[in-house]
Amino acid sequence: MDAKKLPIYHQKNKLIQAVRENSFLIVSGETGSGKTTQLPQYLYEAGFCKDGKIGITQPRRVAAITVAQRVAQEMHCSLGLEVGYQVRFDDFTTPSTVVKYMTDGCLLREVLADPALSAYGVIILDEVHERSLNTDILLGLLKKVFSNPHTASKGRSFPLKVVVMSATMETDKLSVFLNNCPVFTIPGRVYPVTCKFGQAVGPKDLESTAYVKEVVKVALNVHTTEMAGDILVFLTGQVEIERACDLLFEKAECIDYRYDVYDRTVEGLLILPLYGSMPTDQQKQIFQPPPPGIRKCVVATNIAATSLTIDGIKYIVDSGFVKQLNHNSRVGLDVLEVVPISKSEARQRAGRAGRTSAGKCFRIYTTEFWEKCMPEYTVPEIQRSSLTAVILTLKCLGIHDVIRFPYLACPEERFILEALKQLYQFDAIDRRGKVTKLGELMVEFPLHPGLTRALLKAASLGCQDLLLPVAAMLSVENIFIRPGQPEKQKEADQKHKALVAKTGSMNDFALLLTVFQSCKSSDRPSAWCKDNWIHWRALKSAFSVETQLREILLRLQQRRDFPVETFDGNKSELFRQCLCTGYFTNVARRSVGKVFCTMDGHGSMVHIHPSSSLFEQETELNWVIFHDVMVTSRVYIRTVCPIRYDWVKDLLPKLHEVDVYELSSVARE
Ligand code: ADP
Ligand code: MG
Repeated sequence: MDAKKLPIYHQKNKLIQAVRENSFLIVSGETGSGKTTQLPQYLYEAGFCKDGKIGITQPRRVAAITVAQRVAQEMHCSLGLEVGYQVRFDDFTTPSTVVKYMTDGCLLREVLADPALSAYGVIILDEVHERSLNTDILLGLLKKVFSNPHTASKGRSFPLKVVVMSATMETDKLSVFLNNCPVFTIPGRVYPVTCKFGQAVGPKDLESTAYVKEVVKVALNVHTTEMAGDILVFLTGQVEIERACDLLFEKAECIDYRYDVYDRTVEGLLILPLYGSMPTDQQKQIFQPPPPGIRKCVVATNIAATSLTIDGIKYIVDSGFVKQLNHNSRVGLDVLEVVPISKSEARQRAGRAGRTSAGKCFRIYTTEFWEKCMPEYTVPEIQRSSLTAVILTLKCLGIHDVIRFPYLACPEERFILEALKQLYQFDAIDRRGKVTKLGELMVEFPLHPGLTRALLKAASLGCQDLLLPVAAMLSVENIFIRPGQPEKQKEADQKHKALVAKTGSMNDFALLLTVFQSCKSSDRPSAWCKDNWIHWRALKSAFSVETQLREILLRLQQRRDFPVETFDGNKSELFRQCLCTGYFTNVARRSVGKVFCTMDGHGSMVHIHPSSSLFEQETELNWVIFHDVMVTSRVYIRTVCPIRYDWVKDLLPKLHEVDVYELSSVARE
């Protein structure tokens, strides 16, 4: 869409003026009104980058990347020059970058290195209504740090400007939180969207995956019975999306356009997936208008609900589900779960059909599902996920009172205490809640604290080459290809088994190391991947992540106080013992048959996931550690490694001995 036709365009001068006059400003406007792509350009033209960059945060990495690409195009510059982006493990900026899109996690790391954010003239926190954990923390930090006028104007000719952008109108609470700062509302047009409920998903279907088939059926029905206009399907994640796209392809092939479609101008269907870990060049296609006569059908995760706007959408197919990272207090771990969306989320999804004309939304679920299973609002991430990493960040910023930190929504105190306890278990804080030397090193790594702990242990013993590839492999998605069709699956299984044999031990972490090393040392790594049913794209990312982790580690090892230890055990056990240092909080012991019991005080009953190389070897095992869990009707542990009790014996008391009230006493001082 032409930038001059966007609702925000008519507010250009007023907006620039409002930013000039206020150090904190909230900008609210419907999704698609032009906030993310236009406001940074307006501020750039108005000279706000004279003594600092304009930094714009996004909760999602795909949004940061695609929006930066779009803005670079609109500003006629190559990406990485004036306009760039930075996401975890991928930095596309240069010293000449003045408009920088980044994930909220990246800005949080920058705050650690430079609490006054002196490289910036303007910080724009975008998509605040999404209530992502890092954005919520950044809001609190900016409020706290910049209520001190000295920090706010440090190194700048004008005090740092903070603009907070939101797509929902519920900005009153936010304004009060930010010392009653003004709210600038962009008037927008929205067209009516008629919503239809379905018959397919009711309260009893919460655990089934039949919704994938149903959205396909509904989307095809829209395609054959509705007038021209593009379709946007909301699904849960990569696997479900790819499955739905395959089904759509299959069924769309059989349509006879002479008889089967209602609108004779429609002559074909273009099916496009959209999810977070998709290659960037493929993502670009989403935004291009389809060829004449062709209807576009985008099958997306929640990313298309507010972060990205695709023009031309007239029909929505809503599955009613979303994949969400939740802290599961039953098992004491973060778990990626498929859950019903909230009603406000469902309204947001439907709204995507009414941007340029009246639209229709097809919900595959019943009104009973809406009433009984869907909560009114989505719970902010800070109130449902593990706080270990952010609490460590806050502590490293000198904020000891993590309980009375200005949270926009307070997490439950027990979640904060649990995070403190974990940090103590990893030696990142001491008994009194103060950050240790190790904690200061740990905070530098964009990894889960347990994994970082294991990596630092290995580095102190001089065997980082064993752990760096593993940490990298655990940071990328979907290494092993699982084709699904029985025959191909058999072939893939055989290849994967051969890799296990090559590893020489039953240990999923070591298997990751084998895959990494074998591929890296191959002459034709992409062919090697194809041959072994490994995702080459994932491996390529893992190589890059490993290099970056290595760089961070090298920088830290130059510090004089970097720990050095000696190992007096059996060398062949070095790898697994390093893992134990970080994973002793995820330890389980076989109780009976194939059932294991976690030893972290929760005593949950868990099973080894079928994707593990230890699956169906259970009876030969006793103690194991694991990387993560998946909860369906059972709790499954994934990426598993057998260990000996001796290796965790001295660590296990740490799981119980710690007095959380003592840890948090500093927090309350
Ligand atoms: P908001 O942030 O208010 O939701 P955006 O600035 O993201 O709005 O979007 C404004 C317009 O820019 C929309 O019409 C959208 O379609 C278009 N747009 C955004 N990103 C891209 C892209 N990568 N390619 C093409 N068009 C885009
Ligand atoms: Mg936006």
